Amino acid sequence: MKYAFVTGGSRGIGRAVCVQLAAEGYHVLINYRSNDAEAEATLAQITGAGGSAELLKFDVSNNDEVNAVLGGWLTANPDKHIEVLVNNAGIVRDNLMVFMPAEDWSAVLSTNLNSFFFVTKVLLQPMLIRRRGSIINMVSLSGQKGQPGQVNYAASKGGVIAATKSLAAEVGKRGVRVNAVAPGFITTEMTENLNEAELKATVPLNRFGKPEEVAEVVCFLAGPKASYITGEVISVNGGIFS
Ligand code: NDP
Repeated sequence: MKYAFVTGGSRGIGRAVCVQLAAEGYHVLINYRSNDAEAEATLAQITGAGGSAELLKFDVSNNDEVNAVLGGWLTANPDKHIEVLVNNAGIVRDNLMVFMPAEDWSAVLSTNLNSFFFVTKVLLQPMLIRRRGSIINMVSLSGQKGQPGQVNYAASKGGVIAATKSLAAEVGKRGVRVNAVAPGFITTEMTENLNEAELKATVPLNRFGKPEEVAEVVCFLAGPKASYITGEVISVNGGIFS
């Protein structure tokens, strides 16, 4: 059995990624922080379709929790190899910088950027030892071009883009690929308060994207069809920016 681990897999884009990886034959470890009902719904959707998955609840911004729960899973399952890691969990705390409290800077950097380091650190060594792995980081249009009101969020995603390229250069010789996917406006709870009618006019394809359209690209990067792609950032944004 192939194993995949997805952070923030309970809702939105992460859920679509979990569902699709399971449909492609992976046993999916679904991470989430607090929303048990949504996580159970994702698990039920996968098992109801004949797939295999389990829940791993912990806060990706807390290094002790990451080591205890994810590290604990590895210790308890020494014969199983997680070959796909999707660093997807993320939050926004939008505000103009002049009004942004330091806590909102820290919360976004911790959840979106530090988590990349904490989670990847746990799973990287087993991938290097087995010379097999694909890491996909969920970044954002904001981290590519900047966005007013998102200095914290853009900094976190820009940091992950730079880390993606650096890590790809470090581990390629060991058979591990590292890529990023950069969505634009995707219909999830994260974007539910945006004015879709107004914003979609800025998108050449004239609509918001669906989580499944991002999941397709993640699954492509995860698998053998992307075997010669590493250090890349693939935009899924309806043509806003490339
Ligand atoms: P949602 O808000 O719909 O879902 C966020 C997910 O992340 C949930 O599963 C949530 O778990 C989990 N999560 C949040 N914080 C933590 C944490 N500290 N530890 C563990 N899990 C956590 O977000 P989206 O699906 O919209 O976004 C997914 C990713 O895509 C994010 O990285 C986001 O930045 C990125 N993105 C999204 C875009 C969009 O338009 N939607 C555009 C560009 C990028 P729980 O349910 O327990 O809270």
